Amino acid sequence: MLRGAWCVKYSAARPAKCLTEHATRNTKEPLSQPIKLISTDFDGTIFAEFENPPIPPALVAILREQQARGVKWVINTGRDMSSLMEALARAHIPIQPDFLVLVEREIYVHDGVRYSAHATWNAACARDHAELFARVRPDAPAMMDWVNERFRATVYEDPFSPFCLIADNNGDADEIHRYLDAYCARIPNLTVVRNDVYARFSHTAYNKGSALAELSRMLLVSAAEVLAAGDHLNDLPMLTLQHAARLIAPANAMPEVKAAVKQAGGFISKLTCGHGIADGLKRQFGAPAGG
Ligand SMILES: [Mg+2]
Repeated sequence: MLRGAWCVKYSAARPAKCLTEHATRNTKEPLSQPIKLISTDFDGTIFAEFENPPIPPALVAILREQQARGVKWVINTGRDMSSLMEALARAHIPIQPDFLVLVEREIYVHDGVRYSAHATWNAACARDHAELFARVRPDAPAMMDWVNERFRATVYEDPFSPFCLIADNNGDADEIHRYLDAYCARIPNLTVVRNDVYARFSHTAYNKGSALAELSRMLLVSAAEVLAAGDHLNDLPMLTLQHAARLIAPANAMPEVKAAVKQAGGFISKLTCGHGIADGLKRQFGAPAGG
């Protein structure tokens, strides 16, 4: 699912630039390169729908301080633009991510005013998915029938996948996921992207990991200078040392995610969602000034 080297054939949407060194190294951490790029998932990682505020102020303070020092921050999410913008507006935070990865595959760059598309990447992404989904679309009705005959679930097509699932519970989603995986094994480059009870199809070359690799390439940042945080299965492609030397998972992360982060020597917080990520970032950078 990971295609690190694959990304280099695409040119960046704007000139790459070097970032200045900045980070205050936590003396408890082993000597390592300063972090220049922070990639956070959104839901369940920095944003908790039913908390008020949904993004903890302590986390905002750390991200704000790191951005002021030149560290770039990307929200790397399965949400689309309108859904993310609506949630961010509700969170009322005084900072903005420098980049967005949306629907786990499209890249947007904040140009000082708005988020503009990484044109070459997003065009290649759209083209590759259109080609792949043309092959899958004729099979989608039969897959929807298979699900509807066995489960209480919502299945539909949307602009991002010819087959989308909202299962009734994670047990059902696991079973349907296995069925979809078996289908993917027959179609080159097709994979299932799963997040909780949600699932859809995607091209294997595009995921949170390959998008993060493309951002790192644009910024001339190595994996040693990248920190990534996530909680669910769709985060696994970026929660790897191939893309990020420092990994954080909150207490609410899926067992598979905790196992991957632990195996890579990352930090698993005892705190949930954004509190857990703030906990991990404090260990990395130290407490923010005045925090
Ligand atoms: Mg999540």
